[in-house]
Amino acid sequence: MALQVGAHASIAGGVQNAVAEQHDVGGNCGQIFSHSPQVWQEPSIGETEARTFREQSETRGIGPWLIHSSYLVNLCTPKDDLRERSISSMQTELDAAARLCIDYVNVHLGAHTGAGVEQGLDNAASALDQLDVPETVTILIESDAGSGTKLGGEFEHLAAVRDRSQQDLKICLDTAHAFAAGYDLSTPEAVEETLAEFDEVVGFENLAAVHLNDSKHGCGTNKDEHAHLGEGQLGEPGLSAFVNHEAIRNRPLVLETPTEDGKGFEWNITRVHELFDEE
Ligand SMILES: [Zn+2]
Ligand SMILES: [Zn+2]
Repeated sequence: MALQVGAHASIAGGVQNAVAEQHDVGGNCGQIFSHSPQVWQEPSIGETEARTFREQSETRGIGPWLIHSSYLVNLCTPKDDLRERSISSMQTELDAAARLCIDYVNVHLGAHTGAGVEQGLDNAASALDQLDVPETVTILIESDAGSGTKLGGEFEHLAAVRDRSQQDLKICLDTAHAFAAGYDLSTPEAVEETLAEFDEVVGFENLAAVHLNDSKHGCGTNKDEHAHLGEGQLGEPGLSAFVNHEAIRNRPLVLETPTEDGKGFEWNITRVHELFDEE
């Protein structure tokens, strides 16, 4: 299987523009927001835009795509109004994914804000159960850096929500988040151990996608700031072992690396190809 690697692409000017952008940076899979992730907003995607996105993705051989849900969504919240808004926002993202023939909607569990870990996990599972998930779409729970009362930092949280929900949930493992949450990925031995733990707790069969990012901060700091691949705390030895691990090799790798310092997604995607041992 050929390496599947791409980046988070912008939908500025229309969702169809993400395909050309992905192609330009050398990606063959990727991620978009369906609208601005910082405000409550519904995706507004016209029929022509949606068709062009689908056709261009097919023609250029780009996929799978992920929609990263709004940053405001909090599935763990004990507050009714925020919970309702989060559910309805997620529903619009799922519907947008179906229209765009996008396989995955990726979401963070959010923060329990004092309700406690177990209640927060219950809240997330029951919120997810209220969604009408289109047949062609799968929800991915993203591993979190675990700051404050945010859940999803521990692999056990991801497994618990999968178990407690009626939905067929899969997981997106973010390397920078997992590292910040305390799972070492900076050496080949650490990668082996961390992935073995993931397999034991969550199961590789439930891993659908990876956010491949390096981390500016150390292991266990709970600080979420991404770095260019090989230039952060994971570094080349860790990332190289990670992308070549047999459980990771055939998974879509989506980059959310910085775009400053003159190194954009193209530079980072090239790094992944260099780190990857083609068979
Ligand atoms: Zn995310
Ligand atoms: Zn991520």
